[in-house]
Amino acid sequence: MFVARRVRSSVNFAKGTKAFSALAGVDSTKTIIHQTTHPKAKLEKEKLKFGTTFSDHMLEIDWDAEKGWGKPLIRPYGPLNIDPASSSLHYALQCFEGMKAYINDDGKIRLFRPDMNMARMNSSMERLFLPTFDSKEMIECIKQLVLLDKDWIPKGDGYSLYLRPTGISTHPHIGVSASSKAKVFVILSPVGPYYPEGFAPVKLYADDKYVRAWPGGTGNTKIGGNYGSTIMPQYEASKKGYSQILWLFGEEHFVTEVGTMNLFVYWINENGEKELVTAPLHRGDILPGVTRDSILQLTRGWGEFKVTEHTITMPSIVKAQKEGRLLEIFGSGTAAIISPVELINYNGVDINVPLDAEDGKSGKLTKRIWKEMTDIQYGRVEHPWSVVIN
Ligand SMILES: *Cc1c(COP(=O)(O)O)cnc(C)c1O
Repeated sequence: MFVARRVRSSVNFAKGTKAFSALAGVDSTKTIIHQTTHPKAKLEKEKLKFGTTFSDHMLEIDWDAEKGWGKPLIRPYGPLNIDPASSSLHYALQCFEGMKAYINDDGKIRLFRPDMNMARMNSSMERLFLPTFDSKEMIECIKQLVLLDKDWIPKGDGYSLYLRPTGISTHPHIGVSASSKAKVFVILSPVGPYYPEGFAPVKLYADDKYVRAWPGGTGNTKIGGNYGSTIMPQYEASKKGYSQILWLFGEEHFVTEVGTMNLFVYWINENGEKELVTAPLHRGDILPGVTRDSILQLTRGWGEFKVTEHTITMPSIVKAQKEGRLLEIFGSGTAAIISPVELINYNGVDINVPLDAEDGKSGKLTKRIWKEMTDIQYGRVEHPWSVVIN
């Protein structure tokens, strides 16, 4: 799903003529480790709130247009020292990733498809004209960090260590130009189950007032600029009583994504076939989610119903609901894995999405996918997607 990434070899107008291939790459064997002398007290895992607690150490790797990537540094978690003129602070030259490390009862630590996250991060870096890196070497550095802080991975169903690799421009000039300096850093945050009491289906507000992404834009990359502008619309929706925005695009009201998740619709299509459908990647306005790709592959593997990537419009969902063909809707992403949807407000009307009569919290397919995905992630089922790192 991602195009193979070259190590950036193009001549960079801001960097003279030095070929990038002559510059140093990320080298995990050169990692310098400064261990903390003041380990932090760990919160009881039941008290964890998403993204608020961080482990003892972080990874930092600087890049410079003259030398390439410097030695990876693992050091105590703490503030960054960057120039206030840094382009990341002025022009949103920033990108990030979200991935998780899971530990099981035997103490085996697993990352879920880290190669996909690193490929996506490279595509985000490339879009910002920031330097790319060798994914394998970066994963090695991340492994060193996770293993050093392995006591920070909370044990138990639904618990994990959330990894936040981030790329920023540290170019210290105010002109809008290519970066001569950059930094990648990775911080780790222990997290609890997204739904501690079983699924809690979400209410969506389908909005055409604000547009998250558009063809030719940057919606297919995980760059900070895509997210800052969603906070105000999200607040407006929450004041109306809806927990997430369903982002629409175009006059046809294409259904794109929900909050920061991909969206799946399970229905009986106009031809009377059962179909699981999600928006296609070719327009460039959809984030290529690792969870999205995994769900597509898993469900295609079952061969029980049609699984497609094509454009869905809001009116077609309304029509399916009226005709009793709408079966389930859910969002997908690393944080929640699967997030069932119970209704969508569209043009001022609440459109109910069916939920399983048994518990009224999600559909049956939603539950089944959630179970298969988490079985792989926690290593209850062996799968090549789940990479053991210890
Ligand atoms: C991160 C993200 C997703 C989910 O991607 P995963 O790789 O599955 O975590 C979906 N949509 C948006 C807009 C995102 O930022």
